[in-house]
Amino acid sequence: MSIDFPTHTLPESVLDFHAMLADGKTTVAAVVKAYLGIIDLRNKDVNAYLEVFDEEVLAIAESYDKQLEGKSKMEREALFRQHRLFGVPFAVKDNILMKGHIAGSASKVLENYEAGFDSTVMIKLRESGAICIGRVNMDEFAMGGSTENSAYGVTHNPLNLEYVAGGSSGGSAAAVAMKGCLFALGSDTGGSIRQPAAYCGVVGLKPTYGSVSRHGLMAMASSFDVIGPITHNIEDAELVFDVIRGKDTLDSTSHETKGFSVTGTLPHAGMKVGVPREFIFTEGVSDDVKKSIENTVENLKSKGVEIVDVSIPLLQKALALYYILVPAEVSSNMARFDGVRYGAKVEGKDLLGDYMNTRGQLLGKEVKKRIMLGTYILSAGYHDAYYRKANILREQLTADIKKVLGSVDAIITPTSPDTAFKIGEKAGDSISLYLADIFTVTANLAGIPAISVPAKTHASNGLPLGIQFMSNADREDVLFALGKMIY
Ligand code: GLN
Repeated sequence: MSIDFPTHTLPESVLDFHAMLADGKTTVAAVVKAYLGIIDLRNKDVNAYLEVFDEEVLAIAESYDKQLEGKSKMEREALFRQHRLFGVPFAVKDNILMKGHIAGSASKVLENYEAGFDSTVMIKLRESGAICIGRVNMDEFAMGGSTENSAYGVTHNPLNLEYVAGGSSGGSAAAVAMKGCLFALGSDTGGSIRQPAAYCGVVGLKPTYGSVSRHGLMAMASSFDVIGPITHNIEDAELVFDVIRGKDTLDSTSHETKGFSVTGTLPHAGMKVGVPREFIFTEGVSDDVKKSIENTVENLKSKGVEIVDVSIPLLQKALALYYILVPAEVSSNMARFDGVRYGAKVEGKDLLGDYMNTRGQLLGKEVKKRIMLGTYILSAGYHDAYYRKANILREQLTADIKKVLGSVDAIITPTSPDTAFKIGEKAGDSISLYLADIFTVTANLAGIPAISVPAKTHASNGLPLGIQFMSNADREDVLFALGKMIY
């Protein structure tokens, strides 16, 4: 499908947008209107946005343009240094709270639930001048990898509508890929930022656990969850991350990280990247994906990066660990949706009936499956056999990864074993959906940062592929530097 819209008037990046604004070549309102026009045109097919805040955002955009009125180019540039996302239109995943707006996690149980406060990330973005133009689709409560688990219909891949956009932040990736915003926020528990970014040919950053406040993010698995950006390019990911990161007194697991320079680059020569070959070059990973890794490795070598083979045998267990520990945390986090405290309710004949009707009728199949699995895993008879063992192995895996990352700057893998798949192709087949998370869950188990960057060449079906880099905790700068090298 072609886009019958003058997209050439759209900025390619935040810096590009600010240069256009500084030169008076465009206005915030004009760019916001352009995005709204594209959403109007494409969203009926893509279903990325669940809600667009049309009127509100135009008023905000106009007030921003007023601030620019009468200012010289230098004064405008000074303003953009202070408000680094001045006028930048973005989309927010439906599990991140924005005061006065519905935050539904794409679930019937939170239909019409209005956020009573702002998440820390939304406050930071607003203070930096960014404009939230709407909320976007996702797998219900972030459980899934295709956005097919949304109560509001599947999100289609803007690059080919027959395919999924990935998940759970499928709406965020699709909104960026269809040029319906300059960036989007997603959340990543086991790959939900990186995998949809890879499927839609955009950049997705899963920051270090705790480097971005989770205050106001609906919890899926609290020791795994992190908010991060999905963007058109690395520079924007770097900039948005720099704006949203930092310690927050409202999230005791958050911490301060050092500042990053948006334009700064680490020297290529002397960088070392580890390739876990035995993990990548196996059955179940498509030939296109294997080729994309080989090509990227060659590309890195040509830029002076040293490539070494690394072996982390426990990687083979990461997926199993993830699908034990995450449902356990999910089952506990989901207990709050009882029809009493938040959102919608289906009355029963007594209190127990209220609970059973509300949870039975308003939660989706995948969410209920994980609650049941997690409850089983945490039950007295099985806690030691599954939960405790998985926790011990999580620590072991983290230690093994850290050891490897003591001798290399980053580890390279594909983001996903294949490209996006056709809508419905894996529906009802949880195992094959879970298998698609094989490369992404490790970063969440170990709490380290990871980025997905589009590979240079597309797969034979014409769809993009993602290259993932993982680095030491709080070394997002390494990921940005490597991403820029291969981009
Ligand atoms: N696909 C993974 C899952 O379903 C990841 C989800 C996520 O990162 N939110 O658990």
